[in-house]
Amino acid sequence: QIVFVPKEVDSNEPRVAASPDTVKRICGLGLDVIVEAGAGLASRITDEEFAKAGAAIGKASDAAKADVVLKVRRPSEAELKSYKSGAAVIAIMDPYGNDAAVAAIAKAGVTAFSMEFMPRITRAQVMDVLSSQANLAGYQAVIDGAAEYDRALPMMMTAAGTVPAAKVFVMGVGVAGLQAIATARRMGAIVTATDVRPAVKEQVASLGAKFLAVEDEEFKAAETAGGYAKEMSKEYQAKQAALTAEHIAKQDIVITTALIPGRPAPKLVSAAMVQSMKPGSVIVDLAVERGGNVEGAVPGAVITLDNSVKIVGHLNVPGRVAASASLLYARNLFAFLETMVDKGTKQLAINRDDELVKATMLTDGGKVVHPNFAGKEA
Ligand code: NAD
Repeated sequence: QIVFVPKEVDSNEPRVAASPDTVKRICGLGLDVIVEAGAGLASRITDEEFAKAGAAIGKASDAAKADVVLKVRRPSEAELKSYKSGAAVIAIMDPYGNDAAVAAIAKAGVTAFSMEFMPRITRAQVMDVLSSQANLAGYQAVIDGAAEYDRALPMMMTAAGTVPAAKVFVMGVGVAGLQAIATARRMGAIVTATDVRPAVKEQVASLGAKFLAVEDEEFKAAETAGGYAKEMSKEYQAKQAALTAEHIAKQDIVITTALIPGRPAPKLVSAAMVQSMKPGSVIVDLAVERGGNVEGAVPGAVITLDNSVKIVGHLNVPGRVAASASLLYARNLFAFLETMVDKGTKQLAINRDDELVKATMLTDGGKVVHPNFAGKEA
């Protein structure tokens, strides 16, 4: 059976869904791999490296031969047309708010898996694309913030005088936020952080940063059973805003990463807070693709306001460290694919009762089967 890895059609997507390492592993499962020519170039993987690992180098139309397609982004209409009915397609499907696209995937008759729905349980940690990519995004947010900031981050005591350490404030301490804290600390910044989940407090302290939050009764109950944040009440948000407003005015770099699954990102930084910052300060909004945490952030742009504060709104931040992001993403996908291949027959054998399959399967047999999207075929 054939696994196909295309070059991503979205020109803003430099990542690729396989690496030489995973190609070798997939071949080891007894499957054949075709990688589209040039698929890895934006992630610094050459066709030769893929070929050496055991892949055949092919063209986009080879998708028609595939039993499994490994992708980064949801397939386009044109790509869907090229797939065999019944093929398994594994990608970040980004289905929320994209009903028409989900319906088109169902109509194509493919069995589509949405990797971002992988349960965050121990067994599936190695398949957790949200974590592997958010971790790099958190790192890159600090790099981007530092690059826009026109001063040094660490304190430097030199013969010519002392440069003070930069103050970095991280809002939202999930996977991305934790890596942002760690990265900013490594660069010598003085770091503070906030979140609505109490569990975060200790993690922040263990990274050498200071935790700041409104710790009322609602805060104590803000974490869902799944480990995510709840949407906070208007009252809580007002208290949180009052606490952070004063703090933000004194910061040099603010990095926001706050998300709530299936909801728009919470607005945490108001225009007034942005106005209160010192000239030359930088805000990096990692949530900009989900509506943004920062008022005035522009998706895909770095803007400089009248008060010389910059707001960084890069899209696809993991793609800004594409070579690293692809290696981890490819490994996440391989780990999932491996669970779906029968070791004896060396054939794809999708167990529809497996909890990982149930959680991630978006479409199957011409229907939208994921409970969150069922009935979206029309
Ligand atoms: P996320 O991307 O959904 O959100 C980022 C952060 O924003 C979260 O920490 C969230 O609490 C925070 N946030 C939401 N609303 C906020 C607000 N109004 N103000 C401030 N902060 C706000 O989160 P994530 O990075 O995907 O992580 C979610 C949880 O899952 C974490 O507890 C993480 O440790 C856990 N996790 C578990 C595993 C596992 O395998 N067990 C793997 C990865 C992550």
